[in-house]
Amino acid sequence: MGLEENLPSGVLLTNVEKLVNWTRKSSLWPATFGLACCAIEMMTTGAPRYDLARFGMEVFRASPRQADLMIVAGRVSNKMAPVLRQIYDQMPEPRWVLAMGVCASSGGMFNNYAIVQGVDHVVPVDMYLPGCPPRPEMLIDAILKIHAKIMDEPLGPKRAAELAESGYRTPMVPSSVKYAP
Ligand code: SF4
Repeated sequence: MGLEENLPSGVLLTNVEKLVNWTRKSSLWPATFGLACCAIEMMTTGAPRYDLARFGMEVFRASPRQADLMIVAGRVSNKMAPVLRQIYDQMPEPRWVLAMGVCASSGGMFNNYAIVQGVDHVVPVDMYLPGCPPRPEMLIDAILKIHAKIMDEPLGPKRAAELAESGYRTPMVPSSVKYAP
C-alpha cells in the first residue's frame, strides 16, 4: 500500500503549504521607498535598536522585482499614485502591502485635493497600521501579523478570491498618466 493511502486526505499538500509559507514569511523583503515622516520610523525599525533583521527582513530591496512587501510609509499624493502602482505591478506575486500610519490608511489629516484618501484606492492593502507616526514596535507588530496571515494562505494565486471578498476598488490612477506595468 502506498504512502498516499495511509495518510489522511490533503495532509501532504497542507504540510507543503506550511513549509512554503514559512519560508515566505521568514524572508519578506520590503521595497525601499518612503513617502513622508512615517518613513523615519520605518528606517528606525531597520536600525540596530529594533533590529528588523531578527525577522529575516534586513534586506530592503532597491528593485521592486526583488521585493515582496510594500510598506507605504506616509501620505500618497495624487501625483505619486501612478508611480506607487507601477512599483506594485513590478513586484512579483505573492506580494503584500502594509499601509503604515493614518495618512497611508485613510488620508489622515490631509483631507484635501492633493492626497489619495487611503492607499487602498491604488493597491490592495493587507494590513492597516494606525498612528501618526506608528512607533517601530507598532510596525513590528503589524509585520508579525502579516507573517501570521501568510502562514494561513493557500498556495497559488492569492489575490483573485481575496480581492473579490474585500470589495477592492478599481485603482484611481488618472487615465492621463501612462505607466508600463
Ligand atoms: Fe507623517 Fe503622521 Fe502622516 Fe505618518 S501619519 S506620514 S507621521 S503626518
